[in-house]
Amino acid sequence: MVNEGCLSIPGYIGEIKRSELVRVKAQNARGVEVKIKAEGLLAEVLEHEIDHLNGILYIDHLESQDKFRKLEPPKKPSDSAATKEGEPE
Ligand SMILES: [Zn+2]
Repeated sequence: MVNEGCLSIPGYIGEIKRSELVRVKAQNARGVEVKIKAEGLLAEVLEHEIDHLNGILYIDHLESQDKFRKLEPPKKPSDSAATKEGEPE
C-alpha cells in the first residue's frame, strides 16, 4: 500500500495498492520503441501516469472511503507559539 496524491484532486491523499515492479513498452520522442523496467517509486509513477492516459485516477483504486483523506494544512508558526504559551513550564 502506498499513499498517493494527484494534482487532479488537490488537498487529498489516498492509500492504494501499486505494483512493486513494472515493465513498460512505449515509444520515445523519435517514435522508436523503448522498454522500461522500473521498481519502487518510478514504478508507482509510471502506473499513475499511464492510468491518466486511460482516464483512471488513483481514487478509482481505493478499496474503501476510509483510505481517502484530506491533507492537513501546514501549521503556521503562530499556532505553535500560542500552544506553548498555554503549556505549563
Ligand atoms: Zn495524477
